[in-house]
Amino acid sequence: MIIKSAEYLISSPDWEKCPTPNMPEYAFIGRSNVGKSSLINILANNEKLAKTSGTPGKTVLINHFLINKEWYLVDLPGYGFAKRSMSQRKQWEKMIEDYLRNRTNLVTIFILIDSRHSPQKIDIDFVNQLGEWNVPFSLVFTKADKSTQAEVSRNVKAFLNKMRETWEFLPAHFVTSTVKKSGRDAILGYIEELNAQ
Ligand code: GDP
Repeated sequence: MIIKSAEYLISSPDWEKCPTPNMPEYAFIGRSNVGKSSLINILANNEKLAKTSGTPGKTVLINHFLINKEWYLVDLPGYGFAKRSMSQRKQWEKMIEDYLRNRTNLVTIFILIDSRHSPQKIDIDFVNQLGEWNVPFSLVFTKADKSTQAEVSRNVKAFLNKMRETWEFLPAHFVTSTVKKSGRDAILGYIEELNAQ
């Protein structure tokens, strides 16, 4: 897919205030610092579209971007922020659950996972929660340039094996590096394919 345009639209406090769901939508989420903003920026070919590492975790908003005037890219506030208060956490949980369960045009959510680590409980828990809610998702293993290829493969395999304990089918998965710009075409190609369905 060639990116012809990428524009920021709006940040919404809840799903009901999001733009009219008249185009296919793809959301991105993951642990704090996983590389979400960097990935969104290379996907959209715009270094400044999503903000990278400012004061993470404070704002709990659903951020909509319009790509090629034909699909929405959504930057969701991530999980695992130690600095969030209990009430902020509850607010995050409610906002994410309501958004994921009610957003009718959501095609898939990409869950970003740091490829340097073996499976982390917080990511597995989130994946299993999506299963309970019947929300389609895909996995993106980020920061692949930070480890050897063998380490990345081992961690990806371990995550998928962990999923096999409870899942019959495994989701699509991608390995990315924003430094090497790898994985970009695969993700955009996948989105293009889904858009065409
Ligand atoms: P976010 O908090 O998930 O939005 O993460 P950011 O995109 O702000 O990235 C967090 C940190 O990881 C920043 O210092 C990025 O430059 C760095 N980073 C993100 N993606 C990559 C990657 O693919 N490779 C490397 N080496 N660093 C990355």
